[in-house]
Amino acid sequence: MMVKMKGFAMLGIGKTGWIEKDVPDCGPLDAIVKPLAVSPCTSDVHTVWEGAIGERTDMILGHESVGEVVEVGSLVKGFKPGDRVIVPAITPDWSALESQGGYSMHSGGMLAGWKFSNFKDGVFGEYFHVNEADGNLALLPEGIDIADAVMLADMVPTGFHGVELADVQYGDSVCVIGIGPVGLMSVAGAALRGASNLFAVGSRPNCIEIAKEYGATDIINYHEADIVTQVMEKTHGQGVDKVIIAGGDNDTFIQAIQMVKPGGRIGNVNYLGEGEYVRIPRAEWGCGMGHKTVAGGLMPGGRLRMEKLASLMVTGRLDTSKLLTHKFNGIDKIEDALMLMKDKPKDLIKPVVIL
Ligand code: NDP
Ligand code: ZN
Repeated sequence: MMVKMKGFAMLGIGKTGWIEKDVPDCGPLDAIVKPLAVSPCTSDVHTVWEGAIGERTDMILGHESVGEVVEVGSLVKGFKPGDRVIVPAITPDWSALESQGGYSMHSGGMLAGWKFSNFKDGVFGEYFHVNEADGNLALLPEGIDIADAVMLADMVPTGFHGVELADVQYGDSVCVIGIGPVGLMSVAGAALRGASNLFAVGSRPNCIEIAKEYGATDIINYHEADIVTQVMEKTHGQGVDKVIIAGGDNDTFIQAIQMVKPGGRIGNVNYLGEGEYVRIPRAEWGCGMGHKTVAGGLMPGGRLRMEKLASLMVTGRLDTSKLLTHKFNGIDKIEDALMLMKDKPKDLIKPVVIL
């Protein structure tokens, strides 16, 4: 294998560029993967231009990819060079105590299962390193388009995790706040879990259309009127059983608590980038006695989960192609795709780069 590779990197907060690095070494449990398709994420934009995770120097960006295994460590059992794999954004240490406790995404410390483009180089290079390949890679089933499959790295598991955190049950009325790519996957996931009335909050016309295709029964435009008022009107003052937050800001929690019924659950997967506190409205939280639960989480990874999610695509129950609005070809286009994500033109949902 060649010794040097190029990658598109964060040079410092607010600065990006192409750099050259050594191809990473493969430990005994690990794999080296060549990306076949990658996608930039709203989180990459937070990382570079908002300094969300602090200063990083010459760190290759990106955490959403499918790829081809080019090397495996001597102790890897389930994968071999040539395998096409889905690489989840979150790649935990599976032997960590947090993983044994059921929270692999926090293995080694809070949020520390997120390694790509955080603690180590990400997937926007010619090659990248995957720790604990047997636990963290998933085989890409035959017949799934690689562009569609990239959505399995982060958008599907994150959007679906919002649904899990809210614990959506058959017949629940659900409000998904935010219908960018993550929220659209929450809409799709809530529909799969059997939601009845499914409210989707957003404003971009193409996201609204696709939310309906994924199963939204009502669209709430947050620019037109207060979303709590709109949800209350549509539910005859009852509110909804479950809320999933995939957009908005710290004050969105206030709205979620206001619109959820007593006993309801709020699942947050939105990244909160600023402010010291998230506020809970006292009276609407039942003066502390309303049984309104708030849960927030980072997506889980893991081979088992990823292959189950991929099987939803194989069986035609989930179609991620609706998210892909902009397609690029060639590694050099990663920069254009990331800049597009930063500029967020109205017609953008997700860009994907085929390498
Ligand atoms: P987008 O920016 O594409 O979508 C955000 C959505 O929120 C849009 O529908 C937008 O509406 C809506 N919105 C914005 N402001 C408000 C508001 N005040 N009230 C209600 N809705 C609002 O983001 P993504 O879908 O790419 O990502 C969503 C979030 O998830 C991000 O914060 C991202 O960092 C985070 N994330 C979390 C992960 C995890 O593991 N927990 C992993 C990946 C991402 P409009 O239609 O007008 O644009
Ligand atoms: Zn992402």
